[in-house]
Amino acid sequence: MSTKYQNLINGKWVDAQSGETFETRNPANWSEVIGTLPKSAAADVEVAVKAARAAYEKWRLVPAPARGDIMRKIGDLLVQRKEELARLMTREMGKVLAETRGDVQEGIDTAYYAATEGRRLFGHTVPSELPNKFAMAIRVPIGVAGIITPWNFPLAIPTWKMFPAILSGNTVVFKPASDTPATATALVQLMHEAGLPDGVVNIVHGGGGAVGNAITRHPDVDLISFTGSTEIGKQITKDSADTLKRVSLELGGKNAQIVMDDADLDLALDGILWGAFGTTGQRCTATSRLILHEKIYDRFMDMLVTRTKKLRLGDGLKPETEVGPLVNEGQRKTVQSYVEIGQNEGAKLVAGGHAAKGPGLDGGWFHEPTIFSEVTPNMRIAKEEIFGPVLSVLRVTSLEEGINVLNDTIYGLSSSVYTRDVNKAFVAVRDIKAGITYINVPTIGAEAHMPFGGVKQTGNGHREGGWTVYDFYTEWKAVYFDYSGKLQRAQIDNY
Ligand code: NAP
Repeated sequence: MSTKYQNLINGKWVDAQSGETFETRNPANWSEVIGTLPKSAAADVEVAVKAARAAYEKWRLVPAPARGDIMRKIGDLLVQRKEELARLMTREMGKVLAETRGDVQEGIDTAYYAATEGRRLFGHTVPSELPNKFAMAIRVPIGVAGIITPWNFPLAIPTWKMFPAILSGNTVVFKPASDTPATATALVQLMHEAGLPDGVVNIVHGGGGAVGNAITRHPDVDLISFTGSTEIGKQITKDSADTLKRVSLELGGKNAQIVMDDADLDLALDGILWGAFGTTGQRCTATSRLILHEKIYDRFMDMLVTRTKKLRLGDGLKPETEVGPLVNEGQRKTVQSYVEIGQNEGAKLVAGGHAAKGPGLDGGWFHEPTIFSEVTPNMRIAKEEIFGPVLSVLRVTSLEEGINVLNDTIYGLSSSVYTRDVNKAFVAVRDIKAGITYINVPTIGAEAHMPFGGVKQTGNGHREGGWTVYDFYTEWKAVYFDYSGKLQRAQIDNY
């Protein structure tokens, strides 16, 4: 069944001003159209920003605990519709149902966290250096937030951004990825139903170059929160520079799992299969490199290849499916091109390597889980983000070498070390350059109340998740009250 979706602007569901549309389709069965969407442009963004600006002047005055009450209702609605949303998401972008349920759960956790943050949003009171004077710093909202998101976590990532933005008193213009607009619309519909006043949340569908660009360049948008590729992140930094917006970037990764010779190998095997092939390798935190200690290299490779060849590909709605399709044809072509690059570079293809064919697979963008062994650190398949089910395996002789290899990339998002030696684990935590380090856990699996983000070209220093994201969506205001009844000059009259 195909549905007609619209933009939500100022509380009204509307088409693009041009009347143009585009389609969203099922990557497991490309002939299935899920919906048609407005193909919007700068003129639609203009109206949405105007609505968000007008709504901001009222919304910022609503007490934060009352804003939190709406967040709680949003969380309750997500709980009620979890299954329906998960099924829509699987149809729209292909992840298996267990994972799309997890994606919605992350939204639920983020909503309830935001609800309680409405009663915190802590500031500071500090002693003044002068008598009869009171000093405090409070958090204030910033204005209109432009939210631009990718397709791989089509519900969770927008909630990581929109919920803290709105709870903090900002209003939102949201442009979701063109591959997952239906899931994004279902989320916004539910936020609207929960009682957000008109204009607090607006969604404008359309391409990155048209809608995304109009948001990042708009003089009346105060901040941008973007998750996506490093390439577009750099472009957004340039585009938003003229208006000096506050910009949060969560970008690409080339994450690695190190397995030491003392590790529990069965545990490490479960970890790498989930880290590398969960979400068909399409996570910013996906394990793209496996760094094995030479003493266990051959044994572990045998175990890994045997299990990988047994992974069941298929439609994510089927309970037996372990690996779904890639999101679109372009993504599959990218994966195929990296398989070719790996072979030309001299790496050894030991599993997969082809578009997957067969009953239930021919109509979708499936690709076999693929492993290259004997990869060396200078190869492109060891350095570049592939964003698909391709694992590059490297051999090292020590933890120190393993950490050097792990750090040898422009990215710094997630990392993992399997060892039973607590001393080695602490050295790894100290020396790995990444925003997230897991010990005896794969590189994927962030929790919503913890800081999330990366170092180096994975981002620009901000963090999502938990308490840290509220630093991005609020500005500090320093406030002084002098009740001495006379002019007191700081640094002058008291010294
Ligand atoms: P992408 O191509 O960079 O697109 C991300 C978003 O930006 C989409 O909504 C896209 O719109 C929009 N966009 C494209 N060009 C734009 C422009 N010039 N101005 C403004 N917006 C623009 O990334 P993707 O393919 O969707 O996602 C995969 C990437 O995201 C990977 O690199 C992955 O590592 C990264 N990612 C990072 C994190 C993290 O937290 N670090 C999490 C998830 C994913 P259209 O869809 O219309 O093109």
